Amino acid sequence: MEKLFYLFIALVVPAAVLAAEDINKQVDKTPKEQPALTDKQDDGKQGKPVALALDPQKFEFVRTNLVSTFYHELAHALIDMMDLPVLGQEEDAADVFSVVVIEQLFKSQEALAINSGGAMGFKVDADDRMGKGREWDWADEHGPDMQRYYNIVCLTYGSNPENRSEFAEKMGLPLERAEYCNGEYDLAKHGWDPIIKRIEDAKSGEPVSFHQSARTALQQRAAEVIEAEVKLVNEKFNLPKRLRVTVKRCSRGSNMYAFYSSSRHKITVCTNYIDELYRTAPK
Ligand SMILES: [Zn+2]
Repeated sequence: MEKLFYLFIALVVPAAVLAAEDINKQVDKTPKEQPALTDKQDDGKQGKPVALALDPQKFEFVRTNLVSTFYHELAHALIDMMDLPVLGQEEDAADVFSVVVIEQLFKSQEALAINSGGAMGFKVDADDRMGKGREWDWADEHGPDMQRYYNIVCLTYGSNPENRSEFAEKMGLPLERAEYCNGEYDLAKHGWDPIIKRIEDAKSGEPVSFHQSARTALQQRAAEVIEAEVKLVNEKFNLPKRLRVTVKRCSRGSNMYAFYSSSRHKITVCTNYIDELYRTAPK
């Protein structure tokens, strides 16, 4: 049992305690110094984004990571807006939510693609860090990238172990962990299902709004991916408070990935993150 409990949701810390002025919940990754722009910029005026032929495989990595990240951030928003108790690290709870809700919202193959892509995002970051000989920041509020990778892989496998042994093998999930994954997934569902049901059953609520200021063809297509998820959330759920989602360029020095602001009830997905995903997508 020891193996199970570290993963799961829900400390007894009300989110309101954490919600001092504008605590931004970084998504997934620690900030980096340099934004990485892969696409050509347009002229910066009102012109249309430059039409570029995007590499479909690389864009698939961008797409799956953005969807996974969006639901991770939605978890932070729900924890805050619904004042949910969180038993464990909130960042872990948000990762767990993203896997569970994705498995619920999408057909098995698509859920597998998204969760698998989200996991790979962490592996790519971990490999990059190791390649540069940089040690993990052990004081970071997020778990180490490779642990987040294995946690997502384990839950994704555990949601459907009969049909996903090939996936587990391909992702290098050790057998000793794999045998617990179905139980881990059940526990994750047990934690999040009642919350998901509450927003599903709510008769009325506030719509999630979407804005974007994409500047390149890549960012434009990526923004459409996020917009589609906002639409899906509005179709399936009713949230108790108004949530805004925006895709925009984030300033240097801030988290340049994605984050939830509790003071603004706003999820920001940085275009810097979109560019970085495309640049680092595995071949
Ligand atoms: Zn987070």
